[in-house]
Amino acid sequence: MAGAASWPVRSLWAANADIPSSLEAVRLNGDVTVIEKAVLQEFQAALQGTLLLRTSEGYDAARAGWNGMIDKHPALIVRCANRTDVTSAVNLAREYELLTAVRGGGHSVAGNAVCHGGVMIDLSRMKGMHVDPVNRTARAEPGLTWGEFSHETQAFGLATNGGICSDTGIAGVTLGGGFGWLMRKHGLSLDNLVSVDIVCADGRLRKSSATENEDLFFGIRGTHSNLGVVTSFEYRLHPVGPMVLAGMVLHPLDKAEEVLKFYREYNSSAPDEMSAWAAFLTTPDGQPMVALLACYVGAMDVAEEVVQPLKEFGPPLVDMIQPMPYVGALTLIDEAFPKGRYNYWKSGLLKNLDDEAIATLAQAFEGVTSPYSSVLVEQLGGAVGRVGSDETAFSHRTAPYDLVIMPMWTDAAESDVHTRWADELWQRMQPFSSGGVYVNYLSNDEGEARVKAAYGANYERLVALKNKYDPTNLFRINQNIKPTG
Ligand SMILES: Cc1cc2nc3c(=O)[nH]c(=O)nc-3n(C[C@H](O)[C@H](O)[C@H](O)COP(=O)(O)OP(=O)(O)OC[C@H]3O[C@@H](n4cnc5c(N)ncnc54)[C@H](O)[C@@H]3O)c2cc1C
Repeated sequence: MAGAASWPVRSLWAANADIPSSLEAVRLNGDVTVIEKAVLQEFQAALQGTLLLRTSEGYDAARAGWNGMIDKHPALIVRCANRTDVTSAVNLAREYELLTAVRGGGHSVAGNAVCHGGVMIDLSRMKGMHVDPVNRTARAEPGLTWGEFSHETQAFGLATNGGICSDTGIAGVTLGGGFGWLMRKHGLSLDNLVSVDIVCADGRLRKSSATENEDLFFGIRGTHSNLGVVTSFEYRLHPVGPMVLAGMVLHPLDKAEEVLKFYREYNSSAPDEMSAWAAFLTTPDGQPMVALLACYVGAMDVAEEVVQPLKEFGPPLVDMIQPMPYVGALTLIDEAFPKGRYNYWKSGLLKNLDDEAIATLAQAFEGVTSPYSSVLVEQLGGAVGRVGSDETAFSHRTAPYDLVIMPMWTDAAESDVHTRWADELWQRMQPFSSGGVYVNYLSNDEGEARVKAAYGANYERLVALKNKYDPTNLFRINQNIKPTG
């Protein structure tokens, strides 16, 4: 009896301490609505997690994402502890027609984890995980990062494909696609999904898999929060590592054209266990370079032989390719992408990497405007292309490369200079574009045509799903698929 009485007493105490007499919040249509104190108190009392308002301790840290360009103030942040909290938050958002953002790892360059004036459904504290080593599957909650997830699976010598930076969220990466060191061997992150639990706009928790709510399973694999909030992911795992051969070689920028032609040639016969990405970057001591980042995830007894050409060509100025744990390969470039700097990305899938494309990239990087900026050419292929373009919402299965132009800077007053440099290079690369774009690399407000370019021929099917599962477009703080009816 004492236990039963203590629960509401504790919760109401917290409510009384934090909650104002009423709270103004922004609705989906841009109007302001008022949420009464009693409603917020009841809402908070039912939460296992935490409700943060503008005056709450921890509010600013909770709303901050990776990209310093994004500075938005939600009226409420619901720090969910579990799926029941997520359901409550979705129900409150629907009832008050609140502008609603969903935060996983908070790493999207577009800043879609946060909104201004509405409710932020913050999943970052939901980090539960269970590995089933016998069936080689893992269940994971959406607040985990790839570093945390992989650390756990590697305890069993297992992994699934994830982002190559340890602090990107499993949620956004997976729900947008998932490019990483294992994709050529095992497919995109979303190709390794077995099932998800998802809270849709009607507040119902659904399971979705190849055999249950199948239409939803097609749609969630590539569309972020458009169809709801995923509260649990079930992944297929594969034996990986624990040691892999990974790292990077560096060449001076004036050798960039030769290096990229060699890179293209090397890739044409590389096995699926091998992934190599080319990067234009500036070293901490100010030297512009072209780097080849590599990760070989196959048998270690042949690893040196496979990677040897990368180590020999040039030869490179610096060779940092070496045996390391797989989780180490997920931290190779972490330091180059710290949280809080100003970022703006322009990207697009390439139909080829011909000599002219290479020359354009090399020339453009000579005029780079910030030492923190980089340009990445990511090698796709392998298992990515062995899935049909209409099997998941992610449709771009055949492009051989993806290009990401990533200006990064520290002074807000310089934003125009750096974004213009990226826009101009992106324009110059259009002749080599496949026309498609990877949704996870879209910046904020790139426009409807770019969202359509992300989904290609799948777009109309996704509109039909949006009409069915989120007809009022409650979930619109994302690369939005607009419902039509
Ligand atoms: C430094 C850096 C490195 C990166 N490296 C890679 C890489 O190697 N490979 C790659 O593929 N991508 C990479 N990305 C891009 C990355 O895939 C996207 O930024 C991704 O969306 C981040 O996911 P998140 O959960 O951290 O971000 P968030 O900003 O939290 O979420 C991104 C989107 O997903 C939605 N979302 C989040 N959680 C959920 C959920 N549980 N249910 C429904 N919707 C949800 C959000 O609402 C938002 O629209 C990188 C990004 C950065 C900044």
